Amino acid sequence: MSRQSNSLLAIAAVTLALIPAPALADTTPTPQAGKAATAKTAKPVDCAQVKCIALTFDDGPGKYAGKLLDTLKKYDAKVTFFLEGQYVKSRPSYVKRMAQEGHELGNHSYKHPKFTEIEPWAIRSEIQKTQDEIKKAAGVEPKILRPPYGLADLQVTEVAAEFDMPVVLWTAGSRDWDLKDVEAIKKQTLEVAEQDGIILMHDWVKQTVEAMPSIVKTLQGRGYHLVKVSDVVKKHELKPGDVFPLPQGWEN
Ligand SMILES: [Zn+2]
Repeated sequence: MSRQSNSLLAIAAVTLALIPAPALADTTPTPQAGKAATAKTAKPVDCAQVKCIALTFDDGPGKYAGKLLDTLKKYDAKVTFFLEGQYVKSRPSYVKRMAQEGHELGNHSYKHPKFTEIEPWAIRSEIQKTQDEIKKAAGVEPKILRPPYGLADLQVTEVAAEFDMPVVLWTAGSRDWDLKDVEAIKKQTLEVAEQDGIILMHDWVKQTVEAMPSIVKTLQGRGYHLVKVSDVVKKHELKPGDVFPLPQGWEN
């Protein structure tokens, strides 16, 4: 194992995790489970033609996922959930609903360890157990990985490649986990919103879920289509093991 390059990349990734960071992806199966797939399938979103943005929710499904899903349904908005296997196991019905309602599901580990500090076999186990829980809950398997804290190094990307997954980070953060205030979260999110942006949020933050109706309405009022992260990164044609956006200091 090239420990040296691993450490270098880990440092780059840490930098990223602290700053509004990275993002990426590929095609997650659009779960068109039975009933949900009607009007939506007729007009797939093409981010080369329209203004897109991807809101992404990490660490869930959280306690407030049901309320969030209600809001998204009301405004016909799609998002991406990077799920933790342990919570998929305890709240499988939310995960099923996410898939049925056309949202994208990504893998965010089973128990949220730093992938840069555990052995490859443990990373594999974290990813596989989460894939299994999501498959069991929703009948689909994620095709994208977002490692906990956005921490990736060569070891992480090699394991991601084994699972045929690109690593999708984010372009900006809502800082919701820190702000915990409806107005502040809304302000920060709208400030960093940009075309083809990938915004990091959390559905376990109550104030985020409370701010969502207003955030969604405002973004749509600005002409944005709220889409799955795979739609936003489609043009980059990410391959298994690729990282997007590439953290500073990474040479491709
Ligand atoms: Zn996380």
